[in-house]
Amino acid sequence: MVSVTFDDGWTSQYDNALPILNKYGIPATWYIISGSVNDAPPYMTKDQIQAFANRGDQIASHTVTHADLTTLTPAQVTTELSQSQTTLRQQFGASAAVDFATPYGASNATTTAEAKKYYATQRNTDEGFNSRTGFDPYNLLVQNVVSTTTTETVQGWINEAKTNGTWLILVYHEIGANVGEDIYHTDTAALDAHMAAVKNSGLAMKTVRQGAAAYGSGTPTPPAPPTTPDAAMTAINVVAAANPKLGAPTGSMVCGLINGGCYRNYVAGAILWSKATGAHYTMGAIRQTWAGTGYERGRLGYPITDEIGGLINGGVYQMYQGGAINWSAASGAHYTLGAIRQTWAGTGFERGRLGYPTSNEIGGLINGGVYQMYQGGAINWSAASGAHYTLGAIRQTWAGTGFERGRLGYPVSNEYAVAGGVAQDFQGGRISWSAGRGAVVTYK
Ligand SMILES: [Zn+2]
Repeated sequence: MVSVTFDDGWTSQYDNALPILNKYGIPATWYIISGSVNDAPPYMTKDQIQAFANRGDQIASHTVTHADLTTLTPAQVTTELSQSQTTLRQQFGASAAVDFATPYGASNATTTAEAKKYYATQRNTDEGFNSRTGFDPYNLLVQNVVSTTTTETVQGWINEAKTNGTWLILVYHEIGANVGEDIYHTDTAALDAHMAAVKNSGLAMKTVRQGAAAYGSGTPTPPAPPTTPDAAMTAINVVAAANPKLGAPTGSMVCGLINGGCYRNYVAGAILWSKATGAHYTMGAIRQTWAGTGYERGRLGYPITDEIGGLINGGVYQMYQGGAINWSAASGAHYTLGAIRQTWAGTGFERGRLGYPTSNEIGGLINGGVYQMYQGGAINWSAASGAHYTLGAIRQTWAGTGFERGRLGYPVSNEYAVAGGVAQDFQGGRISWSAGRGAVVTYK
């Protein structure tokens, strides 16, 4: 028995292997990287892979991102295994992704145990022939065909399988001259000669699924596949299509973020998705500010809108679970959140006397205080005093007393109107202002 397999889903396989397989009527098994489908070229489009499925070939899984599974966290391994299966079945039907091949042939006891939950077989790159006696469906043995493999060598493998009644699995990568990396390609003429040898061998030509079934490998019932990645991918694609300014994707979707989130990077930014927030992009200066807070793991959490323009002075903002980031050319991009944001909101946001934030929150003040600078003043917060703004002549006077380190301490109110002027209360007293007398400090 012989199986012909191709890894990774390269465009060169469609261009150069399909005609030869058709010429000899040989079925094949395609180990596809689900996250690279449609990243064409060098990877095949969905329609090109479908052309193989239409001739009765097997579409099998080769993970989402072609990561070395032995280097990933358990959650990441699960995602690579389960999400590639979900995606490939969504694209190519329920018979897809029953069998699996490890990227780089890399597996260990942990990754293999997880693979067993989802797949009927696992193909590594260990060389040999499979026999019914001692058959290990989770370490299918193969012969690796590379650029230096001769037709005589392939003929020798065929002869050995025939003599011993074993199962030969051939592994190919890119097909064509001058394609692929290093030795992982086979010239088109060489593949033609190999397939002629396969066809003329008299060996039964099977897909991996057919071969494994002949050796007694059943199809496992995988755990209910998580629905999240499909919803995430769909939502992310919608945002990407609506925002061409993001440019092309620079990687596959990655899941496993907090609260079940996923992201995909693009040339100009990224799109974040979580079930609670939906999909929204982040980019540019606003994304940088968000990154500075620890991305979705930080106090801002996930974005809950895209960027929204049209603010005064050409400003733009984006809402997050924990607050917002405002940008204008004059002020840069800064977040606002919590009590300080509430106080700012009370002044009319960027349209009010404070204008845009010109810093993020800055901690380290006495008594655990925090402040944030704005175009028109500042907001100070401490647990004891709450969040209050200071601006104009009253702020200047407070500055003259040493801010919160002085005798007045933190503001405990915002400005309020009094007869003839305004006043503001502080922990240590009051500053009153009137047009006639200016600012006057009254200590407690
Ligand atoms: Zn591969």
